[in-house]
Amino acid sequence: MKQVPVDDFDLFRRLLVDADALLLDFDGPVCSVFAGYPAPVIAAELRTLIHDAGELPPPEADANDPHTILGYAAELSPALGRQIEAALQAGEIEAAKTATPTPGAAELMATWHATDRPLAIVSNNTTEAIRGYLAAHDLSTYVDHIQGRDPYDPTLMKPNAHLLTEAAKALDVDAAYCVLIGDSTTDVQAAHALEVPAIAYADKPGKHDRLVRAAPALLLTTFTPSC
Ligand SMILES: [Mg+2]
Repeated sequence: MKQVPVDDFDLFRRLLVDADALLLDFDGPVCSVFAGYPAPVIAAELRTLIHDAGELPPPEADANDPHTILGYAAELSPALGRQIEAALQAGEIEAAKTATPTPGAAELMATWHATDRPLAIVSNNTTEAIRGYLAAHDLSTYVDHIQGRDPYDPTLMKPNAHLLTEAAKALDVDAAYCVLIGDSTTDVQAAHALEVPAIAYADKPGKHDRLVRAAPALLLTTFTPSC
């Protein structure tokens, strides 16, 4: 298996210098969205809606991930998919109000913005939740475009490369000259599909091995090496 550099900040700088645009995943690299309103709580609410609609719950392995439940519901029926999408949007907008900032993320966004190159948030979260968080934390000026999930088609969420392609289009840059920072293997997979260099951000030890196996160009455990 290819060796993945870890916390190599010279490489981090080089990857950023070489890019025309920065694509930044939201939950993880920017903030911990579900810090105050945990994802498993939202997932339980979504499972109740599925149960109330007379459908079987999702498989146990998927039961605590709201986005997986959304995909599951949409496969059961388009109407249930729309209902779960609406409930998840409301949950994410609420969760974003108590999200906690990722250390160093605001500084990274400000530093990038100062180089006069565009930045897009590319996220499986709903656009409204992201917009609300950015406004509340005075980060909106650093973000040129928010590419949240398509509310009409959950199959377009990452690992599908669709959101990255759309973000690059909106920024009017070639996707191949972007760099992506994300904290999930699905981020790395979506980036690989477009040959976009992927920087994995592993703020929790549990994520480290999984992300290394996805073979990103670099893995960072922090944005603030001096701390
Ligand atoms: Mg993430």
